[in-house]
Amino acid sequence: MTSAGLLSLYDLTQAQLAEQLAQWGEPAFRVKQIWRWLYQRFIADVDEMTDLPRELRARLKEHFVIGRLQPVAVQRSRDRWTRKWLFRLPDGSEVEAVLMEYDGNRRTACISSQVGCAMACSFCATGQMGFMRNLRAGEIVEQVIWIARTLGQSRLTNIVYMGMGEPFANYQSVMESIKRLTTPASEGGFGIGARKITLSTVGLVPGIRRFAEEPLQINLAVSLHAATDELRSQIVPINTRYPLHELTKATRDYIRKTNRRVSYEWALIERVNDTLEQARALVELVRQTNPRDDANLVHVNLIPLNPTQGYAGHAPNLKRRYAFCSVLERAGIPFTLRVRRGIDIAAGCGQLKAETTRCTDE
Ligand code: SF4
Repeated sequence: MTSAGLLSLYDLTQAQLAEQLAQWGEPAFRVKQIWRWLYQRFIADVDEMTDLPRELRARLKEHFVIGRLQPVAVQRSRDRWTRKWLFRLPDGSEVEAVLMEYDGNRRTACISSQVGCAMACSFCATGQMGFMRNLRAGEIVEQVIWIARTLGQSRLTNIVYMGMGEPFANYQSVMESIKRLTTPASEGGFGIGARKITLSTVGLVPGIRRFAEEPLQINLAVSLHAATDELRSQIVPINTRYPLHELTKATRDYIRKTNRRVSYEWALIERVNDTLEQARALVELVRQTNPRDDANLVHVNLIPLNPTQGYAGHAPNLKRRYAFCSVLERAGIPFTLRVRRGIDIAAGCGQLKAETTRCTDE
């Protein structure tokens, strides 16, 4: 299906597709027709676009492929609620995407924005593999399409940009992918609501400031992981470039400008960042971030560390987790202590590394 030389139809905006079709003398309404096949029916072959003239289908096949992602493996967690795909791209690089299902009501796709990552967060398997390249907008979108196709009638309800890569380091393509995924169904698009999408950054301050200017209602998550510069620079090296006072100021300005809630992500690592000192420093940081006395504006997500081969740290025991939580609770900081998901197939936060065992259970 894929070919290294050809553009994918998912690489095109509606305007680009319209331009191409106009050059071929096709009417403008074909854009919506084609997008419906791509974004609502998730077809795998141009010939499935049965309401298009045969000549147009032949032209599309001559100039484009439907997609550039080739699934080479899919794994499902023992509890059946998490699935992970490994996709190969035409240049041979590989990325992973994860589907997490919750109680039969919420189905979240966790997608990648880069092949590898240059941010080198110490506990993260993607960071340990280094940076290869940015994904195109179409390659990001296609991960969602694959997962949506698998789900069929039970639609995807949420999308999180929390897979491999730092989304703000691939800003243009990520924003373009969001535009395509939020194009309304009435216009032929995938039609997911912007509020159902969360973008997670490790704290690229210029990205946060730029994102604040976007006319989008996307949720923002900031991977904090430590509340003092000394510790954060060890775990999240980009902190040396954008230290905490700059990060919290940018986040505060973002909230002030957009009036939208931000979540701080915190991978709890035993005897590294699960101490009461760090909890107290986090309380301070959340207060500094919050531009108003409104508890709804900053939320803390605590995720007990998922194991990776290249990092010796591990998740704290329950006693230490609850001790950390109680500091936040007493200070009135809203938080969630997350349940770890998909660890047995290395699909948890920070575990994606594009080395899924080549086996399928579909
Ligand atoms: S945690 Fe995110 S930003 Fe850090 S290395 Fe991993 S993928 Fe990159």
